[in-house]
Amino acid sequence: MQVYNSLTKRKEEFLPPGSKVRMFVCGPTVYDYIHIGNARTFVVFDVIAKYLRYRGYNLHYIQNITDIDDKIIKKAQETSQDWKEVSKKFEGIFLENMKSLKVDSVNEYPRATDHLPQIIKQVKTLIEKGNAYLIEKDGWYFDLKTFPEYGKLSGRTIEMADDAVSRIDESGGKRNKGDFCLWKFSKPNEPSWPADFGAGRPGWHIEDTAITEKYFGPQYEIHGGGQDLIFPHHEAEIAQQESASGLKPFVKYWLHVGFLINKGGKMSKSAGNFLTVEEALKRYTPEALRFYFLSAHYRSPLDYSEEIIEQAAAGVKNLEEITTFLRKIAQKQAFNPQEGNELLAEIENYEKEIMKAMDNDFNTQMAFGFLNSLASFIFQAINKMSIGERVYERMSRLISFVDQVFGIIPPEKEVPSKIRELIQEREEARKQGDFRRADQLRERIKELGYEIEDTLYGPLVKGGN
Ligand SMILES: [Zn+2]
Repeated sequence: MQVYNSLTKRKEEFLPPGSKVRMFVCGPTVYDYIHIGNARTFVVFDVIAKYLRYRGYNLHYIQNITDIDDKIIKKAQETSQDWKEVSKKFEGIFLENMKSLKVDSVNEYPRATDHLPQIIKQVKTLIEKGNAYLIEKDGWYFDLKTFPEYGKLSGRTIEMADDAVSRIDESGGKRNKGDFCLWKFSKPNEPSWPADFGAGRPGWHIEDTAITEKYFGPQYEIHGGGQDLIFPHHEAEIAQQESASGLKPFVKYWLHVGFLINKGGKMSKSAGNFLTVEEALKRYTPEALRFYFLSAHYRSPLDYSEEIIEQAAAGVKNLEEITTFLRKIAQKQAFNPQEGNELLAEIENYEKEIMKAMDNDFNTQMAFGFLNSLASFIFQAINKMSIGERVYERMSRLISFVDQVFGIIPPEKEVPSKIRELIQEREEARKQGDFRRADQLRERIKELGYEIEDTLYGPLVKGGN
């Protein structure tokens, strides 16, 4: 299996020390609704996690929740709420969004505020080791001059490190422009935790390394996030953890997801060109959104337009129809004993190509290309009624893989009993040769929002919600 590593800037053989793999992905700052650009990252890593597990790795997957941050404090002040109310509300919405999007591979979502002892311990270590210095009445800062390897992930230097400084890292007393805050002394109206180096709150980067050190130790296999986090966030994480432990590399493989592009620019809160997940889920199904997120390679930019999502929805519909057909074949036990090895070989070949694409740096774009051709191929095979038991089993196995790893097959729809009765009645009428009655019943069913398609395997119901 090959993965692209942002640290070495090339594709590498994925070689974890054993079957155990530890993965950490930067989670949300819970101060507002998340948008579909954020959701793309979380869905991509959900698929990566599920594929790694499918390949037999024992994966421990963690995503942090940043529930203390300048943005949360600001939002609380603007809306006259307690900061905890703000973070609790948006954490709930985020987790609900993830559930709706079928993101269910994360083992733990640790909160920053539940890990203050670990954060304080790590700041203390950095102070003791001489990597941190004090700015009076301000806080503790990381001295980048003590970590000569700074920039190895992003290719930037200490002198360049000033364009992405967040508000918490601003200070007139810094030794180097890019030095970042580890611990900020709180103002009277701000949240604060006691520490023997001064009461305050954590900086932007320290929670990630404090949390991963607790769950994974000082070194682990995969760290992921959006491309916008490479600098300065992930660069700062490397400086903190490698300085604190003296062990290198902090993380073996760094994976980064590309931007979602809307109206020519990166979708973001600050640019105002965003669509929230809440809104998106009112317009599209979770499966269509996942299909859309995965339709480009994860490292490439992904364009947003309704048309592109409609195309994804059409892809989902094809897979849904195939799944329904397969269920129908199984119910009727309508297997063709004359199945050919040719068809079996064809299905096996598609399966191989899809796995090969996934083994090639999780290339879902390529995998979906094969999936589309496979769908047309299966439609043809079904209509020729050439499905035997072995072919059926192979197809079902592949569809179940697509369902489990990509999450793009909608759940089986419950057909209301009223509709089922009408279908039964129509079947009776057809058997008796009363086609006028059968047509009337078809119309009646259509009025109720369902469509009937007569197939070799009996009537197929479409529609409903
Ligand atoms: Zn992070």
